[in-house]
Formats: sequence, structure tokens, C-alpha cells
Amino acid sequence: MSRMSRSMFSACLLLGLSCAWIQAQTHVAPRLPFTEKDVELGKQLVAKSAEIRAQITSPSGAAEPFKIMGNLYFAGVNNGEVYLLTSPQGHIMFGVGYAVAAESVERNIEKLGFKLTDIKAIVLNHNHGDQSGAVAYFKRRTGGAKVMAGFAEVPFVEHGGALPAGAPLPNAPNIPPAQPRGQAANPNQFQPTGTNQYPPVKVDRALFDGDVVKVGSLSFTAYLMPGHSPSSTSFLYTVRDAGRDYRVFEFCCWEYPDDLSRGAYITEASVRHNLETFRKVLPVDIYLETGAYGWSGTLNQASYLTITQRMVNLRTNNKLWVNRDIFKALSAAREAEFEEKLQKLRP
Ligand SMILES: [Zn+2]
Repeated sequence: MSRMSRSMFSACLLLGLSCAWIQAQTHVAPRLPFTEKDVELGKQLVAKSAEIRAQITSPSGAAEPFKIMGNLYFAGVNNGEVYLLTSPQGHIMFGVGYAVAAESVERNIEKLGFKLTDIKAIVLNHNHGDQSGAVAYFKRRTGGAKVMAGFAEVPFVEHGGALPAGAPLPNAPNIPPAQPRGQAANPNQFQPTGTNQYPPVKVDRALFDGDVVKVGSLSFTAYLMPGHSPSSTSFLYTVRDAGRDYRVFEFCCWEYPDDLSRGAYITEASVRHNLETFRKVLPVDIYLETGAYGWSGTLNQASYLTITQRMVNLRTNNKLWVNRDIFKALSAAREAEFEEKLQKLRP
């Protein structure tokens, strides 16, 4: 609070006023193209997403694979990750999932009618075991698909989800790991330990912000969005279905502690960069997160449905994926959340 705010605050207390302006101190009006309406809808979607996430009791369990739209397929596990973008010249695998789920994901890819040896690139969104655990397995089983990851994820992936021995830890030892709201603390997010580790693999291409990556006839743009990990990476590409193009955005990852100062990979500049990226990629027709609980297709359904019912519906009605309001609203709510948390740090 500024000196003026403090004195007004004291005046309010003295006069016993309701002082609606106090609340206004933490409220930051959304910046265009986001509106108050977007923020409100986004907050509802965030709450819904958390509710759906709580229903996923076996994140690494096998899920039923299906076509999302055009040449984009879901091949993953109950938690959601592992997407396959296909072409006659070869496929891209986005995310590989948990090491323990490698064989079920492999079966899913075959069930969809694709050969592992046609996968030419394996693209990782960040180094944690739920997204990258099976990377060595799939590099081997595909016959050497090129592994790609954001540049600051590379030392982790090449050392199996940890920094090289002797490297300084990314945060001071007296700062406990941040605890995302509504979730158990994940010490691996900031300090590598044995529980997040997996067989190491050589990364063939480090990705940088705005890189346009071509794999045969396919292409995607990579956006580095640090915060959850040192260079969490999101991907934008277009798929075509029944004569229409759809912009697909796979985002990783929005998970900030209530106290922003307790995150080794969080700076005001990096988060503002991420918020600008949200604006840059609009409009988004199909929104994918690393978890099924955040997909546009999952959120774009009646509020009373369970995750199981939502997944069944997605297998039969792919129009459920398409809703441009969802990513926009989530982005607006995320920006509002960040600004409010930042306000709390201001003197
Ligand atoms: Zn993670």
C-alpha cells in the first residue's frame, strides 16, 4: 500500500466507512482484448477444471485413444497428455507421458492405426516425469525420432529429470517448494529428487521462443513460457477437418504459487512475456493442456458431467472441442490472478 493509500485506509477505519476503494486496491482492470466478462468466465472454468481434475484418480492409467480433429489424435493416459499430429510423411508426438505408461501409450498409437517408426519428432513441453518420463523408451521404439525441448529443459531431460550432478540447485535451500493451490506440494517442481527421475535421453534440438519447426509437411510454432519449469514450452499449429482450419494451442503450464516470490523460475518479466503470448496466439479454436481437465473439449460440456462422461462425448462429437471463448477466458482469468498476486508483493 502506498503512503496515500495507508492514510486513506486509516481514515476509513476511523470514520467507519465501508470503503469499497480498499477492494479496488487489489483489483486490476483487464487489459484488452480481455474483458471483465472474460475474467469472470475464466474463473468459473478454472474452478470447473479443478473439480474435474480431482476425479482423475489414476493419472497414469490407460485411456481410450481417439481422433481430436483432422490429423490430431489423443493417445495418452487418464491424465491427458500425449498427442499425435500425423501426416503421410511422418508424425509428431507431443508429450510422451509417464515412464510406467509407455507400453499403454504405444498400444494406443497402434490402435489408432499408426506405426511408431513413422514418428519423426518427439516434442516435450517440460522436463517433469508426467510429460517426459517415457522419452527414452519412445526414442528407442520409434527408431530414433528427433527429441525436442525448450532450451532450459535440456539439462534436466539429458540427466533424467534432474540437473547434472554438482549443478547448483535452482533455489536457495531455505525456501520450501511452492505449493500450487489445491494440490499437494510437488518438490520436483523446484528441486530435483529421485521421484521425478526417468531414463535420460539426448535432446536433438533445443527450442527457442517463436521457433517454427517443420517435420515433413507438418509445422508448429514453439513458445517458451517459463514459470512451472525453466522453459516450459507451448505449441501452436493448425489442423484441417471437413474443409475448415482450426487453430490448436497446447499450453504448458499455468501453476503459480500464491506468493510469486517463491518460484525459482518466476519473474515479473517472464510472466508478462507469457501473458503477451496469450494475446499473440488468439484466437484459439481448440485448446489443449498437459491434462485432460483443462481441454476446451472437456470444459465445453454441461457442468454436471463426470470426466468419464466427458471423455465418452469427445470420442463421438469432436465439435465439442471448438470454442474460442475458453482459451480467451482462461487467459483473462490468469492475467487477473497474476496481477492480483503481484499487487500483494508491492510495498
Ligand atoms: Zn510439471
